[in-house]
Amino acid sequence: MTQPIQALNILGGPAPAAQPLVQPVANDDGTVHEVVIVGSGPAGYTAAIYTARAEMKPIVIAGALDAGGALMTTTDVENFPGFPEGVQGPELMASFQEQAERFGAEVVYEDAVDLQLDGDVKKVTLEDGTVYRAKSLIITTGSAYRKLGIDGEADLSGKGVSWCATCDGFFFKDQDIVVVGGGDSAVEEATFLTRFGKSVTLVHRRDALRASKIMARRAEADPKLTFAWNSEIVRINGRDKVESVTLRDTVTGEERDLVTSAVFEAIGHLPRTDLVRGKLELDDEGYIVCQGRSTFTSVPGVFAAGDVVDHTYRQAITAAGTGCQAALDAERWLADRAAGIDAAADAEQPVVEAVSQ
Ligand code: NAP
Repeated sequence: MTQPIQALNILGGPAPAAQPLVQPVANDDGTVHEVVIVGSGPAGYTAAIYTARAEMKPIVIAGALDAGGALMTTTDVENFPGFPEGVQGPELMASFQEQAERFGAEVVYEDAVDLQLDGDVKKVTLEDGTVYRAKSLIITTGSAYRKLGIDGEADLSGKGVSWCATCDGFFFKDQDIVVVGGGDSAVEEATFLTRFGKSVTLVHRRDALRASKIMARRAEADPKLTFAWNSEIVRINGRDKVESVTLRDTVTGEERDLVTSAVFEAIGHLPRTDLVRGKLELDDEGYIVCQGRSTFTSVPGVFAAGDVVDHTYRQAITAAGTGCQAALDAERWLADRAAGIDAAADAEQPVVEAVSQ
């Protein structure tokens, strides 16, 4: 595991200490870091572990409220290799962070509000006004919950409408609960919520789940869980709290009301690319476009990894894998740039070819 990084260190030499570039002003000490990582999920922390071990002294902009990313609101993670008994999402992320910090990564609990990507020195501005300058950036901002966009959703958000069963399930003890979606997230949330609810109804717009077979079987065997197939929620009803949802049958068009105290939405995610829209090339769905199999974005010195790039696999392990790639790409790019070589031109060449064994 350590071989590629050591080889890269030989290639690029140890990273020089960060240097002040401009006259210090409030919130901007002018220091130019080797790398700043924006995002703190599996991709961000893996990039931090690798760049820290390469002595690049990474700064991780972890976020003010959602540090740790999507796994912080996940319960059992059963498919992350190395944990035969499974591991809790928050525990896994705490281990990622601890490992990154052990090698010198600095974690900053603030949100980035602006990125300046042009030129040799990139700028990351945080909500509190602090500015970080860096020769390279790794964007690992992940994805956000997709919303239904229907009447009642915004008004009743936090009053029964939720996107996080682990956060809010407890509030609906012995009550009727609705979960919407047909993927792994919906099934996981619905199964988890049966611990609290009097009943849980999983509303799905088709007649079969998209979720993995093992999770679907578990849900179907759960006596507290019922399914509303071929159904979509057209309205969430209630004055100060959720009282019912109006369902429409996708086959017959018939509508009916279902009494419930809570609606948990688990209908997928959207890439969090607001910070880079208009600055990096994005695809039609808003994901960051990378060159070939690399993590090079459309701007030299800016790399991207994890769910903000990936609309196919979206697993913690694949995000971690691309976080590793981004670290290697960034390190190699910096080394090449120092040597006057255009690394982006061979972005199609996997880094491992240059450093393997
Ligand atoms: P997903 O697989 O994209 O599923 C989204 C579900 O929401 C689909 O069933 C989709 O319906 C439905 N949907 C989308 N828009 C909708 C709308 N406007 N109205 C009603 N329904 C809508 O998303 P996910 O479940 O969040 O999973 C994302 C990735 O994370 C997957 O790769 C999954 O395997 C992984 N994951 C893994 C675990 C685990 O292993 N423990 C847990 C959670 C997630 P259609 O089926 O009709 O498209």
